[in-house]
Amino acid sequence: MKRLPNWLFALGALFAMGGLLLLPAGAGGEESALAGGAIMFSTGILIIALGLYLKARLLQAEVGQAPKTQRKKDKCEACEAELASIRCSLHDIKLCTSCLPHHDISSCTYVPLTRKAAAASAR
Ligand SMILES: [Zn+2]
Ligand SMILES: [Zn+2]
Repeated sequence: MKRLPNWLFALGALFAMGGLLLLPAGAGGEESALAGGAIMFSTGILIIALGLYLKARLLQAEVGQAPKTQRKKDKCEACEAELASIRCSLHDIKLCTSCLPHHDISSCTYVPLTRKAAAASAR
């Protein structure tokens, strides 16, 4: 499906060019060639516009899907049941608030897991 717009652009360009080629013949006196050329040209432009529309829709769909794939739950690596709220940078382990007292080693340094909030405010 992703290649469809490019295919449409090629078809639209072909129609538009064919229409342009017919126009000089129409200017030479043949009214049917002039009308045919104009119709072919406008059809080509229409197909290109449709391709642009489809491409925009595809891009929109891709942009809409991006945050879903990026979303990652930070689970507590000690109990693996609750969401982690803090990370021990010394042991590189994510902990929830109920597991934090069990991991209370004085040399540990804790970093709050606020990456989501930081990323949101950065935009
Ligand atoms: Zn836990
Ligand atoms: Zn630690």
